[in-house]
Parts: sequence; structure tokens; C-alpha cells
Amino acid sequence: MRYISTRGAAPELGFGEVLLTGLARDGGLYVPASWPRWKAEDWAALRGLSYVDLATRIMHPFVSEVLSEGELADLCADAYAEFDHDAVAPLKQLDANSWLMELFHGPTLAFKDFALQVLGRLFDHVLRERGERVTIVGATSGDTGSAAIEACRDREAIDIFILHPKGRTSEVQRRQMTTVESANVHNIAIEGSFDDCQDLVKGLFNDPAFRDEMNLSAVNSINWARIMAQIVYYAHAAIALGAPDREVAFAVPTGNFGNVFAAYGAREMGLPVAQLIVGSNENDILTRFLDGNDMSVRDVHATTSPSMDIQVSSNFERLLFDLLDRDGEATAHAMQTFRASGRLPLDEARWHRATQLFAGGRFTDAEAGAAIAGVLEATGELLDPHSAIGVLAGWTKRRDPAIPLVSVATAHPAKFPDAVEAACGRRPQLPERLADLFEREERYSEMRNNLGDLQAMIRANNRAGAPA
Ligand SMILES: *Cc1c(COP(=O)(O)O)cnc(C)c1O
Repeated sequence: MRYISTRGAAPELGFGEVLLTGLARDGGLYVPASWPRWKAEDWAALRGLSYVDLATRIMHPFVSEVLSEGELADLCADAYAEFDHDAVAPLKQLDANSWLMELFHGPTLAFKDFALQVLGRLFDHVLRERGERVTIVGATSGDTGSAAIEACRDREAIDIFILHPKGRTSEVQRRQMTTVESANVHNIAIEGSFDDCQDLVKGLFNDPAFRDEMNLSAVNSINWARIMAQIVYYAHAAIALGAPDREVAFAVPTGNFGNVFAAYGAREMGLPVAQLIVGSNENDILTRFLDGNDMSVRDVHATTSPSMDIQVSSNFERLLFDLLDRDGEATAHAMQTFRASGRLPLDEARWHRATQLFAGGRFTDAEAGAAIAGVLEATGELLDPHSAIGVLAGWTKRRDPAIPLVSVATAHPAKFPDAVEAACGRRPQLPERLADLFEREERYSEMRNNLGDLQAMIRANNRAGAPA
């Protein structure tokens, strides 16, 4: 499989390069040159497979350049052995025709473990074969950081630097990052918002000399391999609910558009996905786009669902590329206009095409809180605020109640204990393996929102260039 950049001016690459590169050299994001398209009988043949076997089958076409099917199967078995639930991504029924897919049974209690546990191992494999080292940099609004750190800690060929917006993650989220003692892990609290952190990371990548000197790499949601690994659980749920003979709809609490883009990818591969519903908090750029073709940047507001406190959803560019009929030049132009003016230009016909598949719902903290209480009372399920927004979006925006709806629960409620307790009076408990999180010692630096300071800090603290 070959990969192309959404901006059309970077070299076409194979999987190994795409994995290590993250952002393309022209500022675009890598996508498959063409999606594998599976027929109904191909999907039907996947019925009854374990999560690990399904993951192997679905991901292998994307990675066959660097891993045999056997090697990939071992890697997946190892990655998903870290999960606490035997089903890996259990489905729970919420009402007559809607389900919750719990994606929080991984080591850091958020869906990001699904991709990052695979990614850390893929990096290790590819770097070992090449005898190389990388410096991984990433921005997190809370959950990516801990999942990335957990996936990369103590790996000999990797140094990892994770930026988080100071004071804007939950305490559990921060502690999951800052209490990791490994010498190759560096946490930096930036005085600014998540978008500021994301801009700093982009700034590092857009400096070619620094990028080469540090052998920079990214594991944030622009990395293609994350999308790939996330396709698996959509297929898993759809097949469990009757695909390919039956359509399914998904509701996804959305920030950077990575998770829901994986559902779109599953559909591109031929899975019968009838509708994709994105849930937003008050940072509702995607919902404004889907409601009225208004993709314009506003200030970021802090909410009880901090992993979605985002105004610029980087993965949206992958969908935009398809909406623009995969014209890289047009995508680059639209993104430049967006960057310069804060407003994405898209003609009415293309926007309309997007709204045939996607819908969006925006919910306040109070609405999310009421949903947490309501779902607990009706079903006994305790949701975190992100997952509650997904469920609400699904319930209010689904087009056809006869089509099974799967809402994805993206985080364990115990990651956001204060918001959950305030909403429903019950304080969720951390699972056993994290029970002493609040006693562990924290380690992180604080920094102004300044690219030069950040570069100096990374130079001083990494081992890139030294032989692996
Ligand atoms: C990262 C995250 C999201 C947003 O996912 P995207 O892929 O950025 O859209 C939603 N909920 C939780 C709990 C997250 O950690």
C-alpha cells in the first residue's frame, strides 16, 4: 500500500516512512493512495473472530510492507493483552436499538490506547530494523499524552516530549503523564491552550533543520497508523450487530476528528455505515460546519470534556481532501485560507455531500451532566463527560431509529471524577492498577508558549543522533 499527502506536494511513501514521518513535508496528512475495498462476503468472513484476530486481518493490508501477518498477529496480541476486559472493546446495550462501545479498558483508560499500544510497538519494530532513533513530540489536551507515554516509555530508540496546556487537563490526566518515571519521558506544561500546544508541535515540524536534527516523529492523531488501528473497533461493533447484512450508525464525541475519521475509513473499506454523528462541547466548530457550513475558528473554552476543547480539528483535512475529490492543490489552498482567515471555504455542493453522512450535535457541560445522571438511572452505566456528549449526539441526531446506533465511550469515568460526581452524586473509582496515582511523585517542566524555548529544551534533553 502506498500513501499520499492531502496537500499533493510531498513524496508518496510506504507504511514504514508514513509511520515515522507523521506530518507530510508539504504540511499535509498521509492517507492511503486508495482504500482497500472489501465485499460483503469479505466482511462476513470476519464474523466470530477475536479482537486480536480481527485487528490483524483489518490492519495487515495497510502494513504489509513492514510486517508479515504472523508478526502483526503477535504484535496485536501483545498490545491488547494490556487491556483489562476480555472483550477488549465490549458493547453494552443502552436501549431498544442503541449500544455503548466501551473503549476505555486500556492502560490509560481512554480510547487512545487502542491505537497507541499498537503504535509504540510498530515504532519499535521499524526502528530496530533500521538501527535508528527518533524524538517523538506531541500535544495533548489530556488523553493522548498519557497513552503515548505509556506506549513509548523505556523504549530504547525513542525519546518522547509531550506538551499539555497548563492547568487545563484533569488532575488524573496530568498525573497519568507526569508520574511516569522513565528517563526517556519528558512532560512540558505550556502556558496556553491545547491549540497553542498543537501549533508549537506543528512549528517544530515546519522547521526542516530541527526536524532532521532531532529525527522528529509524531504520535498525535495526525499519524496515519492511529487512524488505521481505530478502524478495527468500528468493524468489530458493526459485525457484532449484523454487518455486512445490516447497516449501523456511530456517534463519536469528537475533538481532532481522528476517531470519527476511522469510522469513515471503515466505511470507505466497504463496511455498511449509514450515519456518523459527531458530538461537540461548547467548542463546536465541527457542529457549526455540519449545521450550516460555518467552519470558523473561535476562542477555546474550558469545559468538563477537556479532550474536546479544540477549535482546529487537524484530521478534518483528511475528509476535506475527499470532499475536494482528492485534489491536493485545492486542499492546500483551502487549508491556507483557513489558517490565514480563520474560516474554511467550501462550496455548498461539497458541504451538502458531507452532511449526507455526517451530523453534529453540540452540548453544554450542564447537558452532559444531566445525561450522565439520566443514563446512570436508566441503565446503571456510569459515563464520563465526553462519552455522555457522544450518547446525547447520537440520540438527538440519529436519522433512522431502525438502524442500530453505537455510541463510543471514549474515557473511563474515573478520569474525570469531579465532573462525574457533580453530575450524578457518585464518585467513580480508579481501577486497581491506578489506585495509588495520587501518591506517586510528579515530574514536569513549565514553559511559555515560545517555539525557540521549546526547541532549546528538546535539544538539551534528547538522545537523537546517538546510535541506537
Ligand atoms: C481524544 C479524545 C476525544 C477526541 O477524539 P478525537 O479523535 O480527537 O476526535 C474524545 N474523548 C476522549 C476521552 C478523548 O481522550
